[in-house]
Amino acid sequence: MPKLVVDGKEIEFKQGQTIIEAAKEAGNTIPHFCWHPSLSVSGNCRVCLVEVEKMPKLVIACSTLAAEGMIVHTASEKALAARNAVMEFLLINHPLDCPICDEAGECKLQDYAYAHGVGESRFVEEKTHKDKRVPLGPNIMFDGDRCISCSRCIRFCDEIAGAPELTFVKRGDRVTIVTYPGRQLENPYAMNVVDICPVGALTNRDFRFKARVWDMSANKTICQGCSRGCNIELWVRNNEILRITPRQNDEVNSYWMCDHGRLNTFKFVNADDRVDGPYLRREGSLAKVGWDEAFAAAASELKQFNKNEIAFIGSAFASCEDNYMLREFALNVIGSRHIDFMRHSDSNFGDEILRKNDITPNTMGAELVGVTPAAGGLNFDGIINSINEGKIKALYLIEDDILSANPELENTLAKLNLFIVHSSNFNKTTTLADIVFPAAAYAEKNGTMVNFQGRIQRLMPAVATLEQDRSLDGMAMSRLDKFGTRFDRWAKGNKRDVRPTWKIILSLSAAAGYKLIRQAQANMAEDIFEIMSKKIDAFKGLDYDKIGEKGIMLKIDVAEKA
Ligand code: SF4
Ligand code: SF4
Repeated sequence: MPKLVVDGKEIEFKQGQTIIEAAKEAGNTIPHFCWHPSLSVSGNCRVCLVEVEKMPKLVIACSTLAAEGMIVHTASEKALAARNAVMEFLLINHPLDCPICDEAGECKLQDYAYAHGVGESRFVEEKTHKDKRVPLGPNIMFDGDRCISCSRCIRFCDEIAGAPELTFVKRGDRVTIVTYPGRQLENPYAMNVVDICPVGALTNRDFRFKARVWDMSANKTICQGCSRGCNIELWVRNNEILRITPRQNDEVNSYWMCDHGRLNTFKFVNADDRVDGPYLRREGSLAKVGWDEAFAAAASELKQFNKNEIAFIGSAFASCEDNYMLREFALNVIGSRHIDFMRHSDSNFGDEILRKNDITPNTMGAELVGVTPAAGGLNFDGIINSINEGKIKALYLIEDDILSANPELENTLAKLNLFIVHSSNFNKTTTLADIVFPAAAYAEKNGTMVNFQGRIQRLMPAVATLEQDRSLDGMAMSRLDKFGTRFDRWAKGNKRDVRPTWKIILSLSAAAGYKLIRQAQANMAEDIFEIMSKKIDAFKGLDYDKIGEKGIMLKIDVAEKA
């Protein structure tokens, strides 16, 4: 491979790489505003100016190709003087309103001003003023004063979202961005411009002014909005999720996520309608009870039925661990063969960028762990028909509001003699339930899910629950530290009395007098995965450490599974 020297260190590069790319790959990030690894090069911010020996002038590292034998200095006297000058220019008209700016704490301009600025300005004249608080679309606010005209947002819309909605107008120090006449910044991926804007010029209208970034913890997990499973971070303060941002994974979502995932997949975790503790139906309405009472009631109620009268419905919203324990309970404790889960698809949702028509995060995982009818068992439609015929009298359902998705099932579910539901929130389905167990939401638990590519990825908790405080799984949070996750298990704020579905099922089977798995072997979701990895071919040889924070492709025939 050809080589060049950057700051005295010889590094290899691939033909066609620019200096900034080659240096970054070797661990030397040259300061930049307008350059972004996934966008075309525009070369307008000039902060990546470097000195190259034998070249008469400084060059911008983002658009100068690396060449064999090139000797680059990124911190020579000339390069530093140029960088200081660029910073001084960029700050001339900047309002310097960091104390009231949402971007403070994660602002490239702020960081570079500390690292590469001279600390004072020679500019004493009146600054140019531009429009502030301009809604560019339903979810994004623009502050013209703060914009440094890097064009990242324009290039993102053109090149990644395929939706040219933004452009520059005017020239010189009056240049600003606008939407095209009659257009808004409202493509399904628009909010990524907030992440890539290097300053606080573009802000998320849903999040702005809710928290300072240093008051939140950023927790790695995966989006629940569709079967892509975009890698994300949940930002939490006082046990409340305040925003979601994408996390880079080149194999899954690059640097991006869609606005639906960003806005619509976390508020239910914070909502007031969370199921907080177990509930039993008494005199027609659901009443809160203790865990032991609920387990005893569920175990004794299930014993009233013949095994062929009980059916189980798993969930493409639940983790592999949750679905696996449901299957074990159905087949090995109850002895029923009637088990399946509901598929949720929206033909208007998918696109050629990230979004998939399967609007659940774990269809493939549910199939792989065997939440499908056992030999001679009924599938989902068969279960519904058999309830109507009075053959299935008891239904055990986890983590799926099937009634909201299929309102026509109301009369069917009302025919059940026993309906046990695990749910994170009260919803249409729980209104018909006899027993409701409070299921931990995805943001409150460890677990795994398999995306449409056949990639297994980890759920990692961001929100603390009462149960985590008591359990080994809570202590296991410290294991996440190596991924840089700052899970605050002593978080202030409301901790709900919820448990992961797999754990509820384990306790229920113990209450029914059956040790599904020796309790000592299953204190953490990781333990359930270890058991699965011995029994399920696709998971053989894997563990949470191997899956890591970016997931791993399973050795399965995806076309067959998808
Ligand atoms: S709004 Fe942000 S991303 Fe867009 S040109 Fe201005 S500084 Fe760059
Ligand atoms: S594409 Fe799917 S997984 Fe990715 S952010 Fe959107 S809804 Fe979430």
